[in-house]
Amino acid sequence: MIPYARQQVDQADIEAVVAVLRADFLTQGPVVPRFEQAVAARARAAHAVAFNSATSALHAACLALNLRPGDRLWTVPNTFVASANCARHCGALVDFVDIDPATWNMSVTELQAKLLRAQRDGTLPKVVVPVHFGGQPTEQEQIHALSCEYGFRLIEDASHALGAARHGEPVGSCRWSDVTVLSFHPVKIITTGEGGMALTNDAELAAAMAMLRSHGVTRDPRRFERAPLPQGDGAPPDPWYYEQQLLGFNFRLTDIHAALGLSQLERLEEFVSRRNALASRYQKMLQGLPLRLPTVQPANRSAFHLYVVRLNGADGDVRRRVCTALRRRGIGANVHYLPVHLQPYYRGLGFREGQFPEAEAHGESAITLPLYPGLEEAQQDEVAAALRQELTHS
Ligand SMILES: *Cc1c(COP(=O)(O)O)cnc(C)c1O
Repeated sequence: MIPYARQQVDQADIEAVVAVLRADFLTQGPVVPRFEQAVAARARAAHAVAFNSATSALHAACLALNLRPGDRLWTVPNTFVASANCARHCGALVDFVDIDPATWNMSVTELQAKLLRAQRDGTLPKVVVPVHFGGQPTEQEQIHALSCEYGFRLIEDASHALGAARHGEPVGSCRWSDVTVLSFHPVKIITTGEGGMALTNDAELAAAMAMLRSHGVTRDPRRFERAPLPQGDGAPPDPWYYEQQLLGFNFRLTDIHAALGLSQLERLEEFVSRRNALASRYQKMLQGLPLRLPTVQPANRSAFHLYVVRLNGADGDVRRRVCTALRRRGIGANVHYLPVHLQPYYRGLGFREGQFPEAEAHGESAITLPLYPGLEEAQQDEVAAALRQELTHS
């Protein structure tokens, strides 16, 4: 089977992990901060906080932005469920903004219209989570302008988009958001096994997320609320002293995982260029088929986490037939995404078909074709030929 996505682990990665296993720290030790600093430097963000997943990072980011029961978070239906679930973990309400039929990202027009209605109804969101779908950056500077106008905070879900850029600005710089979240799951751009990271330019948000990551505990004397009185003899503060100041979690990444991430990060540019090169090959090979191919806005460089095509005028049945046929031929065709609002859990909260028609049409017609740095051109030719046959001889 040619999978839709796959990690690329090399000998240097393996040696980096083994070196940690021979060293003193297995859990959060010296490698985690090195990995944080390296990613922050690459993305041009001031602060980075590593987590054991993007899901944990999204949860901590929402809490740090003070998302509370009764508050509202908006995201897109065309995403993984974690982009919405983070709000539910805070007891907040979720709503969705439909996608743009051209970019398959959050529609700025829909967002603006929904904000106007919400302002009249008194239902404005506290946090909005745009998702860089498939690695293509959102129209983030426009979403940011709306956040200034309507007073909401922004978390970019950049799980697909490490290495992408918009107007030359790397995704993760947080120029147009409060926090950017990355995922290092094996299918994503670089991997740590499980892992994630939150980037921000706000030192207070970074400190809050770091505390939430580790039980709400701080060991930083500058942050103590009830430190023991100094001895008056110039002695240092008690080295064993720490404070739990809020209710946190164990969301920590380990040095073992961070070593893999740090080693992978060295090949980020190679991974993203290879993904872009393979995407342009698909673009040429799939010309003329009854498909909509992915577009990249001129202002953007996509990280091409996913190569998604859409069947023209398809309903779910046609897509099922094509995907099943591809899988029978050993091609791991997949779907990104079944709309989040139609998941049984979200239907249980009252969401229904017809509410977000563009995301629903996408969810019925999209097929994710294999794309990853180790995909060989011969394998890619096989994928394109199989899809051509299924679409032209049926
Ligand atoms: C993968 C993914 C996540 C979750 O990432 P984990 O690191 O697996 O928790 C969240 N959002 C999007 C858009 C994703 O693709």
